[in-house]
Amino acid sequence: MDIQSLGRTGHLFTNWATTYSCQPELHFEPETEEQLKQILNTAQIKNKKVKVVGCGHSFSDLVCTTDYMISMKNFDRVISIDKEACKIKVQAGIEVKKLKDEILPQHGLAFSVLGSVSEVSLAGCICTGTHGTGGNYGVLSSYVLGLEIMTANGEIIECSKEKNQEVFLAACCSLGALGVIMSVTFQCEPAFHLHQSQYRDTLNNPICRKDSWFWNYAVGCHMLQFCLLISAFFTSLLIYMNRLFSWLLFSKPKEIVDRGDRVFNLDCLFQQYVMEWAVPREKTAEVLLELKDWIETNQFPAHFPVEVRFVMADNIYLSPAYNMDSCYINILMFRPYNKYVPHETYWNAFQDIMLRAGGRPHWAKDHGVVADQFRKMYPKWTKFCEIAQKVDPHAMFRNPNLERVLGRN
Ligand SMILES: Cc1cc2nc3c(=O)[nH]c(=O)nc-3n(C[C@H](O)[C@H](O)[C@H](O)COP(=O)(O)OP(=O)(O)OC[C@H]3O[C@@H](n4cnc5c(N)ncnc54)[C@H](O)[C@@H]3O)c2cc1C
Repeated sequence: MDIQSLGRTGHLFTNWATTYSCQPELHFEPETEEQLKQILNTAQIKNKKVKVVGCGHSFSDLVCTTDYMISMKNFDRVISIDKEACKIKVQAGIEVKKLKDEILPQHGLAFSVLGSVSEVSLAGCICTGTHGTGGNYGVLSSYVLGLEIMTANGEIIECSKEKNQEVFLAACCSLGALGVIMSVTFQCEPAFHLHQSQYRDTLNNPICRKDSWFWNYAVGCHMLQFCLLISAFFTSLLIYMNRLFSWLLFSKPKEIVDRGDRVFNLDCLFQQYVMEWAVPREKTAEVLLELKDWIETNQFPAHFPVEVRFVMADNIYLSPAYNMDSCYINILMFRPYNKYVPHETYWNAFQDIMLRAGGRPHWAKDHGVVADQFRKMYPKWTKFCEIAQKVDPHAMFRNPNLERVLGRN
């Protein structure tokens, strides 16, 4: 088949946060392995860069390209399920939502942990070290048992804890730099319920309100967005708005018992700038106090929440939790009605604090760290680069973001 008939011109890609967009020369949605191979062959002959996209939820320019963009959305089938061993093998483009809502419950299974949203692809989560929270739970990549990857020359490499172990440990958090992940074998566990407690430590006089559409969306989303727009023009109002919304939304203790996956996910409301770092767990209090001190000293109109989550150490070469029981701290600035909101000084201050604390940034979120700094953060950096050089010698899978963070290969 002619490559031009497989690809589409004029496709405009925009990420979820609407902070980055790009127009690839050709956008592909292959349906078969053969088509995918053909696209990579043509890219190689024409010296084009290739970027695979999952659901476009990364906050940075991680998936932007002006050459070839490949969406893996048609690779969304279940290949096999071993209910006894709680293992599932799926095509890599499958959405986490489809797995957690439809497929896993049918077999009495569940993800051990999840991030805040599920409208993301399994491969996308694995490539960026997506995480949830739980001191004894790792990043999602740490539940991967095996991968099949199509490399730049169209060859498929199988890797797992037993086979091609070094490639496996590199591929489990690889930003798409090693090739196109075709399938994932994933460790699940029997379905479970979770008990969520929400409360404020400083609460003296709780108001009694019910959890409802009115509070969660009318107040917690639409009214908040409108007020944040006003505060973008009158920044001195923000402190009062933060206090008001914190009181309105969080002052009443809330107890929820529900299916685990429903408790893990939360409503991330609307567009936002986001920066998140992992630091050694024992530094949690120190960095939070430093951040609070910086916000107060500089009277910076910071938005809430600041999210604090815990993740168990792993041995995946480029996982931010590599060899480090971690506390992930996430700051955000909402963009009401897509309005630009100044955040750069806040970002720089946060990054400085996290760097001093020995932190590593989340791969899918904003940061200003470049390859030479990453080299010092990750003990297995050189090993990762050697593997990338071997499987992608002409740097076909590097876009500007990857050239910045990984180097030019
Ligand atoms: C509202 C919101 C909430 C979020 N909450 C969390 C959270 O709680 N915890 C957390 O850690 N992160 C969180 N994230 C970040 C998110 O989990 C990551 O950005 C994740 O990568 C998104 O998956 P995606 O399918 O959209 O991937 P994309 O953004 O499309 O791609 C991410 C990377 O994966 C690569 N890739 C995708 N598919 C393949 C493939 N088949 N083969 C090779 N490479 C591939 C891409 O090239 C790219 O480098 C959140 C993001 C949003 C927008």
